[in-house]
Order: sequence, then C-alpha cells, then structure tokens
Amino acid sequence: MPLKSGLTILGSNSSIPNFNRMCTSHIFQVENSLYMIDCGEGTQLQLTKFGISRNKIKAIFISHFHGDHLYGLPGLLTSYMHFSRTEPLLIVGPKGLKKWLDCTFEISQAYFDFEIEILETDTKVGTEVYKDDKVRVETFELFHRIPTQGYVFTELEKELKIRKEKISEYQLSVDEIIKLKRGETIDREEISIKPEDACFPKERPGKYVFMSDTIPLESIPESCMDANLLYHEATYLHDMKEKAIERGHSTSIHAALTAQKANARQLILGHFSSRYLETDPFLAEAKTVFDNTFLAEDGQFYPLHFNDHHL
Ligand SMILES: [Zn+2]
Ligand SMILES: [Zn+2]
Repeated sequence: MPLKSGLTILGSNSSIPNFNRMCTSHIFQVENSLYMIDCGEGTQLQLTKFGISRNKIKAIFISHFHGDHLYGLPGLLTSYMHFSRTEPLLIVGPKGLKKWLDCTFEISQAYFDFEIEILETDTKVGTEVYKDDKVRVETFELFHRIPTQGYVFTELEKELKIRKEKISEYQLSVDEIIKLKRGETIDREEISIKPEDACFPKERPGKYVFMSDTIPLESIPESCMDANLLYHEATYLHDMKEKAIERGHSTSIHAALTAQKANARQLILGHFSSRYLETDPFLAEAKTVFDNTFLAEDGQFYPLHFNDHHL
C-alpha cells in the first residue's frame, strides 16, 4: 500500500455485495496513519486482499447503522486478538453505537486485550470528533432514512520542506534549517533568508469529504467546501431519481451537482445498487455535470493531492 496520503476504497457497492463489489468501507490515510470509514460486511476480506495492516488503523468512523456500513465491525474488532493489537482504538458513530456493540459482545462473550473507546454523536450537530498530529476529523449531517453523518478529514498544516541545494548555497546550520521549516526568517549580518528563499512552496492541507448515504444536500456545510476528494454516493442512475429520493439516496447527477456546489477538485462515485452490472454509465452521466469524476473501485487508491494522481 502506498505511503502517500489518500483514499483506498474497500467496498463500492450498496446493500448487497455483488459483481466483485463489496459493501461500504474506506481507508483514508495520511502517510502511515490509517483511518477507517464504515465497516460493511466483508471488510476483513478486503483488508487482507489489499494488504492493509489492521493494526495501523487508528480510529474507525461510522456514518449510520444500516448493515452495509456496519455489520463488518464486530468481526473486525474480535479478530484483533489474532493480530496482537495493544493500541487503543477509537470508534465514532451516532448515538446507539455503544449499546449495539455492548449487546453484541456481551452475548458472544467477546473480550479485548486493547482499549476500545466509543464516541457517540448527535448526527444533527456537526462537531470535531478526532484530532491527532496528522489530521482533524469533523462530522456533518446527512439526510437518509435513519440518523446519518458524513465526515471531513483535513490534514494538519505541515512543516515547510527545505530545498536541498539551498543548504549548501546558504551554508545553513541545523538550527537555521529548523527555523526556516517553521516559517521563520534567518537574519544574518549581511543577508536575511526568508522561508520562500530556501523552501518549497507551502502545500495546501488536503481535505477528504465522505458523503454517504444521503439525498442531495440542499446547502453544503462550510467544512465540506473545497475538498481535494469528495466521495458521494450514487446508488442509482438519474432515470431513477424519484426512487433514489424516496429511499434516501442520490443519483450520479445529484452527486455531480453536489461536487460542483462544494467546489470539489475530484469526485468519486460509489455505493452502486446491485441492479447495475456495469458502473460506466454512472461515470458518463456524472461527467456531463462535473468532469473530474472517478468511479469507486474496490482496491483502488485515490491520492489526496492532485499532483500525486496516477490518472
Ligand atoms: Zn448504504
Ligand atoms: Zn443506509
């Protein structure tokens, strides 16, 4: 698995795993820190198939309690005893998550050698739910048949990167390099060296937004604007728009319009209904509205930063 920051799709289908497309689960990574979003049935198989280390998962974020987003979770957690996990694990999800897990583990008499911390949220109130040295995670409300929330992952500001040739050009000391990377100016008697004289231009922190399952949002929360990657569900093609809304879902055109409104750089479509053998028509439809669209494919990696893109 690449060490770049980005998204790996573990499952791109909706409720029924079919046509080699499993239920929803994503791995978002910032360098070597991994974060899971949703954990549908079959997620463990996908982790193994795509060579993703379970022990590197620092936290799990659940959008809602429909089985295609959740029913892989108890299996994943209980399997950790075979992987000698000792690091604590945070699981974030709507209110009711603790009750569901407690009941499951009490009845099956499951035990854990590591600490599981559960953070329950009110899906109507967008809030920061996680922060470490790499990333900040916030929730926002989605509109589905049961309480549902999306997630925004924002990279934290990184230190500037020094241009190697500038070290010898300016005869920089270690202390001076540290200061420049922090964005400070070096004042020498004869010259002052600004960070931009010796460092690469600052990279905009990357943002990944997860929107599934939902009808199209009427207004885009500020936190979701300007994402590098926006994942939006497209359960149906647009000729089924009435059925989509009735079932609390979206079409490819809805997803594309949302990407446009949210000023996203790239849109990834997923959560395809099992009624569709081929997913190419989703891409064709969405591209009529938002050109920079890609299809979610199980096992595919989508770099967070545009200049990393392999396509
Ligand atoms: Zn779903
Ligand atoms: Zn659902």
